[in-house]
Amino acid sequence: MSSIGNWFRKFSYKFRTGMQHFMMGRYGTDKLNMAILGAGLVVCLISMFVRFPAVNLTLTTISYVLMGWAIFRTLSRNTYKRYQENRKYLGLLQRMKDRDHRYFDCPRCHQQIRVPKGKGKIAITCPKCGEKFIKNT
Ligand SMILES: [Zn+2]
Repeated sequence: MSSIGNWFRKFSYKFRTGMQHFMMGRYGTDKLNMAILGAGLVVCLISMFVRFPAVNLTLTTISYVLMGWAIFRTLSRNTYKRYQENRKYLGLLQRMKDRDHRYFDCPRCHQQIRVPKGKGKIAITCPKCGEKFIKNT
């Protein structure tokens, strides 16, 4: 019995270090990946209830593409780019949750500017480059 226990301990150790080595320098998972995987699973579930072959095939393809994308992001070595994607996604989530403000991009420098909602037409001055523009809030 103890030899099996030993073997298993050795095996799990090798597996763990092997995985660590494999994932070295790779991005891993994040909130965006969880959302992509979740969307892929939902589409996959929906496809099970669709009887039309063409629609079914389309949904199945979409779910595979989404899951493939999530795996690609997890194994990606371009961690900076993946990190930026996740940041954009989190920013978008925050925008959608925030019902008291509107978000504009500065027409000159593309700096994101947050202004309170429901003030009518207001002149906005970009805090970064000083560009002035008028928006309806
Ligand atoms: Zn600006």
